[in-house]
Amino acid sequence: MPKQKTLRLVLGDQLNERHSWFKAPDKEVTYVLMEIRQETDYVKHHIQKVAAFFGAMRAFAERISELGHRVVYLKLDDPKNRQTLSDNIADLSQKRKFKKFEYLLPDEYRLDVQLREITAKLPIQCQAFDTEHFLTERQDLKEFFAGKKRFLMESFYRHMRKHYDILMDNGKPVGGQWNYDQKNRQAYDNKFPIPKPLLFENNLMDICRTIRKKKVKTFGDIEPEKVIWPVTRAQALALLKAFVKDGLQAFGTYQDAMTSANWHMFHSRLSFAMNTKMLHPLEVIEASIKAWEKKPSKIEIQQVEGFVRQILGWREYMRGIYWALMPDLFEMNYFDHRATLPDYYWTGETRMNCMRMAIGQSLKHAYAHHIQRLMITGNFALLAGVHPDEVDEWYLGIYIDAIQWVELPNTRAMSQFADGGLVATKPYISSAKYIHAMSDYCETCAYDWKKRRGEMACPFNSLYWDFFARHQKRLQKNPRVAMMYRVWDRMDKGEQKVVLKRAALYKRNLNDL
Ligand SMILES: Cc1cc2nc3c(=O)[nH]c(=O)nc-3n(C[C@H](O)[C@H](O)[C@H](O)COP(=O)(O)OP(=O)(O)OC[C@H]3O[C@@H](n4cnc5c(N)ncnc54)[C@H](O)[C@@H]3O)c2cc1C
Ligand code: SF4
Repeated sequence: MPKQKTLRLVLGDQLNERHSWFKAPDKEVTYVLMEIRQETDYVKHHIQKVAAFFGAMRAFAERISELGHRVVYLKLDDPKNRQTLSDNIADLSQKRKFKKFEYLLPDEYRLDVQLREITAKLPIQCQAFDTEHFLTERQDLKEFFAGKKRFLMESFYRHMRKHYDILMDNGKPVGGQWNYDQKNRQAYDNKFPIPKPLLFENNLMDICRTIRKKKVKTFGDIEPEKVIWPVTRAQALALLKAFVKDGLQAFGTYQDAMTSANWHMFHSRLSFAMNTKMLHPLEVIEASIKAWEKKPSKIEIQQVEGFVRQILGWREYMRGIYWALMPDLFEMNYFDHRATLPDYYWTGETRMNCMRMAIGQSLKHAYAHHIQRLMITGNFALLAGVHPDEVDEWYLGIYIDAIQWVELPNTRAMSQFADGGLVATKPYISSAKYIHAMSDYCETCAYDWKKRRGEMACPFNSLYWDFFARHQKRLQKNPRVAMMYRVWDRMDKGEQKVVLKRAALYKRNLNDL
């Protein structure tokens, strides 16, 4: 326990009240949380994202004050707020004569660099602490895959299952299989009614007013008096409880499905609560396993395994990828894509129904589920050859859960293949066939999902073949796409020409689709 007068920094995504820092109040220790322009302005964010982060930070500050801790909270419009981490920390430590500065290791590379610079300059003792949140250390994944060409998620996931003894039975996976992906790829067939979502009604009007007053540039919709995202641990726990009760039973089965009738389906919407560290990943995993153990006739193993894999596997894996590949990942552009992101990513105004639905709900709720992000908006950006910087900027801004450590590897590596295949064994692209199979979007679309050429042919189709044709040199040796090259090569040359002509027309008029 520190005896010297100490300033401790808590960042907006470090709202973990169960961290050992908060075990007992210490009158020598002051915690600081700050709403700063540095964070509102590094990218244009969705208004719900800024409001929910500030709302959760304010609630957290209040909570730890109630527990007896000393807290300084700098609101965005506080005249004492110097609007950057460096200036506020320097100011506070000088004016209040702190003898020590302590911080929790940030999850973003840019903040890691900044905090190291800050601590190098501060004339007082400085120390960094673990956030006690993740299930792996920053460099674990890099070490796990040392000497390997590819970082295969499945082998990492199996290692995590064994290491944490999760869904294991005497060294073997429970149910006899590591993964039930084959059973988990169904389109929505109405067999299970989609549960009514638990939506909070947080009144964040005051925060929204300040954001507007300070002219922070944001986008997207908000109902300032009814913000739906959890801003306290109690709310986050309620969301977890609601998910294991209602959503988990069909989570795995429909995790790849999309429907225009509903924006969340059976997904947990827990990413914001976990990424702000209000919830610990292990407690989320344990809650899901407990629910399955209690009612195995209602929740099958493939539902719970599918969910556990997302958190124990994908989430930790992506974090490891981030630390293994940063800062290079930030600049990767394997296909040398240069197109600009079409305007409808910011408005939802396009005739492509799948894009209108996925972008529309993202603007409305700051949320889209994984397959919408990967196989609709990400897929289209990759097929259209959009520069990964622009794609990243959009994903980092629009989603409630977007923090660079998880957004960047998902977008740049997984979705845009800009890492050249370290993460994904092949680019995640599809024609309209997949979208039609996994959703009802094509049924009411202005475009024809069956057509790859001619008037109103679905843009995903010609752009799909155009993608293979233009990247043949880079991709044809990849065994996972060799089949597609065989199909392309067998296509009549005249037909190839017409399809590529249609793709060229669409690429010239990307903004008008
Ligand atoms: C292009 C792209 C960008 C993405 N950007 C982000 C982002 O900025 N922040 C973010 O948290 N997730 C991101 N994801 C991953 C995933 O889409 C979201 O975690 C998920 O949609 C959040 O909704 P949910 O909580 O309802 O998830 P559920 O479907 O209920 O899944 C449960 C949990 O598993 C974890 N999870 C699932 N898939 C992934 C994944 N691929 N990577 C990391 N964690 C995962 C999340 O914590 C999620 O809350 C992105 C995916 C893609 C394809
Ligand atoms: S037809 Fe094409 S653009 Fe329209 S919804 Fe289907 S895949 Fe999307």
